Amino acid sequence: MPVLIVGSVALDNVKTPVEERTDLLGGSGSYGAVAASFFEPPQLVAVVGSDFPGTHLDYLKSRKIDLTGLQQAEGSTFRWSGEYMLDMNQRQTLSVELNVFEHFNPTLPDAYRKTPYVLLGNIAPSLQSRVLDQIETPRFVMADTMDLWITVARHDLEHLLKRLDLIVLNDMEAKLLTDQPNLIKAAHAIRKMGPRYVCIKKGEHGAMLFGDPGAGEFFSCPSFPVANLIDPTGAGDCFAGGLAGHLARGDQPVVKFAELRQAIVYGSVLASYAVESFSFERLRKLRPAEIEARYAEFQRISQF
Ligand code: AMP
Repeated sequence: MPVLIVGSVALDNVKTPVEERTDLLGGSGSYGAVAASFFEPPQLVAVVGSDFPGTHLDYLKSRKIDLTGLQQAEGSTFRWSGEYMLDMNQRQTLSVELNVFEHFNPTLPDAYRKTPYVLLGNIAPSLQSRVLDQIETPRFVMADTMDLWITVARHDLEHLLKRLDLIVLNDMEAKLLTDQPNLIKAAHAIRKMGPRYVCIKKGEHGAMLFGDPGAGEFFSCPSFPVANLIDPTGAGDCFAGGLAGHLARGDQPVVKFAELRQAIVYGSVLASYAVESFSFERLRKLRPAEIEARYAEFQRISQF
């Protein structure tokens, strides 16, 4: 089954305590689509500027990502730059240049309108909603978000939440959204805002999945321990893309909690590979057999 992904396609500048790189391929849409492409064919909805390198387009095409929904507009591509602190867990955004994203009006190609699995990657919630408006009866809709939108576009985000099956956000964002310091209470407060499922990411400490508490739907997943941590950029997007891609492999009319649990493990595996290099360097070399090998290793070390 195809999976539709909307998000940013970006040129990133990334600074870590040991190295600085510029003009890297980045963006929530790029990371999400590449991660999902290891499982099912993604359809990417985004915009790039006239300066976007053809080599990056070639890479996305080489991953069998459908780019019919990728607009190329006059102007500069979305740019983001960020810096990681010494422990690599904390990041500071140094600059965001919306550029062609400022006037982005996502219009879905007809072939995308019946896509059953939808990942609304991290972009403004009003744009996420506009994409969702154009899809007929999707089977499963998930979205990612960030602190910026909770602060500057809360109303739009609250509107979107009512239409989601799953929201993915990190611990700080969950607390910010609910004003609730306890993550379990925060997750259930978010469920009351709309989505059936809430996934709270805790960076290197893993992720928690919350569904119906009456049915015992709770899963606490560690993260795969990575010694070779080079650049965490895109980890969250690869987590979401891997999760959505794995779900799209299923052929059940309704996504069950057990399937979601497994999807979270696959999302964590994809994220663990993404952080082993800047940009897509590690993912470019990644083979499906390595995903399965790390999944098996993850299972082995997490059992008790
Ligand atoms: P992550 O590390 O998973 O949070 O994702 C980082 C990626 O998201 C980078 O490649 C950025 O280009 C992209 N990004 C950062 N801020 C935004 C934003 N406000 N809207 C869309 N994409 C963003």
